[in-house]
Amino acid sequence: MDKKTRIPVRGQDPVVRRGNFEEVSYGYNAEEAVLEASRCIQCKNPKCVQGCPVTIQIPQFIKAILDGDMPKAASIIARDSSLPAICGRVCPQESQCEGVCIMGIKHEPISIGKLERYVADWARENNYSTIKKAVPNGKKVAVVGSGPAGLACATDLAKAGCSVTIFESLHKPGGVLVYGIPEFRLPKEDVVEYEIGQVRKLGVEIECNVVVGRTVTVDQLFEKEGFDAVFVGTGAGLPKFLGIPGENFNGVVSANEFLTRSNLMVAYSPDFDTPIYVGRRVVVVGGGNVAMDAARTALRMGAEVTVVYRRTEKEMPARIEEVHHAREEGVIFRMLTNPVAVLGDEKGWVTGLRCIRMELGEPDESGRRRPVEIPGSEFDIECDVSIIALGTSSNPLIARTTPGLNMNRHNGIVADERGITSRPGVFAGGDVVTGAATVILAMGAGRQAARSILEYLGV
Ligand SMILES: Cc1cc2nc3c(=O)[nH]c(=O)nc-3n(C[C@H](O)[C@H](O)[C@H](O)COP(=O)(O)OP(=O)(O)OC[C@H]3O[C@@H](n4cnc5c(N)ncnc54)[C@H](O)[C@@H]3O)c2cc1C
Ligand code: SF4
Repeated sequence: MDKKTRIPVRGQDPVVRRGNFEEVSYGYNAEEAVLEASRCIQCKNPKCVQGCPVTIQIPQFIKAILDGDMPKAASIIARDSSLPAICGRVCPQESQCEGVCIMGIKHEPISIGKLERYVADWARENNYSTIKKAVPNGKKVAVVGSGPAGLACATDLAKAGCSVTIFESLHKPGGVLVYGIPEFRLPKEDVVEYEIGQVRKLGVEIECNVVVGRTVTVDQLFEKEGFDAVFVGTGAGLPKFLGIPGENFNGVVSANEFLTRSNLMVAYSPDFDTPIYVGRRVVVVGGGNVAMDAARTALRMGAEVTVVYRRTEKEMPARIEEVHHAREEGVIFRMLTNPVAVLGDEKGWVTGLRCIRMELGEPDESGRRRPVEIPGSEFDIECDVSIIALGTSSNPLIARTTPGLNMNRHNGIVADERGITSRPGVFAGGDVVTGAATVILAMGAGRQAARSILEYLGV
């Protein structure tokens, strides 16, 4: 076997999958996983562990796969991650563990994400769980938000014996994992609900349909409900728009709303009545994971889809794998293109986007080359729906209703790297602090905040 290249992963054919919402990647089978695990050289100083925001002991679990000891592999991962089947599927491993894998210096890095997914799927399919309820320590902690930050924080607190309640404003827990990332990348029932079920098995209570800041305030959680500390992991779910003429025509929608209708409210399935308007031709504006998810969702609902992005593919923030999959499925990309107006008819419906061509200038504060308009290069793209995927910011509700809790200029909560905020007893982490980031960074922040909370509570 040639150890220089990765064992390829099987998946649905692009022509078939563009017509369904089933998972794109099949993951490794046992034989493929062992072959891929045998590529790992078990480095003495494993860079992959340093590259993992939750420091999973990667060479150890890979060795356990190779030894055929799957319970051991699952236990090693469970020490540091409560959501391994999710992370194995959606983490940007290419810029984390796999990005620094020693094998990757000369050859292809080890497929760490696919191996993590294999182990997590094995544990689920074989009903293998390491969960043990801890001895109660008498402390009560409220976690606001049930995304990866809140779930990771709740897990570590429950493992330390705290009584933990998660308050979630939506009717289902999971945050972006359920309302943002589509079924074809992250199956909800088999993967997300199962892993959240594991968190519940630790004794964590989850109360949905509770909007903290409205249904109950943070002060009331302390004073009336007797919580000793509060963790805020409310994410960054407020969409940004372009601010160009015509943006309020019917048919212009934020990616957030479009994906929430499709994922959380299952609009793609004929068994649900959720309304969603897709049209024949869709233009998605943006170049991140959210843009790719919206484009591939619209495509599966039968539209012809174009993505417009103002820089080049090299600068796109989306995962390389997602761009590759979108292209394979037939999404059209128009790079160095920026909308300047939304065009509409007399009834107020979108008919197209007026765009301008861009070129790359000097690097800006993000380090990426700044896109500059080419004067006089405007042109129109016809469409009946335009999905805006330009990023999100935080909802200021909690910061505004919690005296003494400092907010930054993006409406996020100010917290240090330990998750400590300006308000004693209140901790925060994940997208609400950093702005839109990644699942694993949110989990890392949740775990760090759990350590700070335990220190604050003296347990
Ligand atoms: C479409 C999409 C695709 C993505 N793809 C990827 C990917 O492939 N890989 C990756 O690593 N990252 C991806 N991300 C980013 C990643 O999902 C987020 O960085 C991560 O989910 C942030 O976790 P969080 O726990 O901080 O917040 P969230 O996941 O946003 O969870 C916050 C939760 O708090 C709840 N909440 C908000 N306000 C209140 C309140 N007042 N009271 C009670 N509850 C409240 C929200 O309803 C939500 O459930 C994607 C994001 C989106 C939107
Ligand atoms: S850096 Fe790569 S080769 Fe080295 S232990 Fe980690 S996964 Fe294995």
